[in-house]
Amino acid sequence: MSQSTCPLCGGCRDSPPLELHHSRYQFCPVCLSFQRLAGISDDVQSHDFRLTYGAKRMIQNAAQDRHALWTEVMGHLSILKDSHEKPRLLDVGCGYGDFLISAQGTGWSVSGIEINPTMQDACRKKGIEVLTKPLRDLTPPFVKFHTVTYLNVLDSIPDPLEEVRLASQWICPGGRILIRIPNGALHGMTIWHLPRVPLLWSRYLKLEATPLNAWIFHPVGIRSLLESAGFSKIKVYRSVPVSGSPFTRRVVRIIESFGRILSGTHPLSTSVIVEGEWTPPDTVPNT
Ligand SMILES: [Zn+2]
Repeated sequence: MSQSTCPLCGGCRDSPPLELHHSRYQFCPVCLSFQRLAGISDDVQSHDFRLTYGAKRMIQNAAQDRHALWTEVMGHLSILKDSHEKPRLLDVGCGYGDFLISAQGTGWSVSGIEINPTMQDACRKKGIEVLTKPLRDLTPPFVKFHTVTYLNVLDSIPDPLEEVRLASQWICPGGRILIRIPNGALHGMTIWHLPRVPLLWSRYLKLEATPLNAWIFHPVGIRSLLESAGFSKIKVYRSVPVSGSPFTRRVVRIIESFGRILSGTHPLSTSVIVEGEWTPPDTVPNT
């Protein structure tokens, strides 16, 4: 049996990989997160994000209906509105720029990073400044951002630890990273048990793209990741459901309500929002 070290928490992963929807995932028993080992290759996924993703009707439709999410994220950002200077926001994987337009409307100076040309064009038409390369190919700016956001992006990046370490170079001291991801506390349980019920499993796969992602982060795993990258004051919040019909969302909210009763520690929402504060190593006070 092969063993590997979990990139999120350093834990030993020695269980056999789980076969899931044409992909293989490795589970970490320490941080309870899954990493995709094989299936859709990172090259194929990268090609998809770069070229075809933004032109897909399904993705365009999904982006139309996210106002509840933008409002929720703006609520998490509002703490910085008291700052004496205009707060600066960078959204990595900013898509068609709709979230940045919302943020701009509440007083933020906004920039985006987007590698897909269709989405880049959409941003430019809305007057959004957009950088067109992945973070690893860009030089950190002299004037840094108060907040960097990853909204349903980080779980598609093969090396998320490298990514958030790079992101920290774009955040000013005391600034924050804010990440929205599918919630591994819920999806982890689902993908262990639901494949045994083929009808429900096929419906789940239609509803959720989660098993195709590079990572399914449990809140424990995303905390470990941010701590390893040097972030502190990490908090995990449940996030509103934004996919599916109004009826589906209502059902999801009811299930989540039961989840909150059953789960004392971790929210059992379909997605979570995670935030962390950035303190550069040379400014950490000696204890
Ligand atoms: Zn782990």
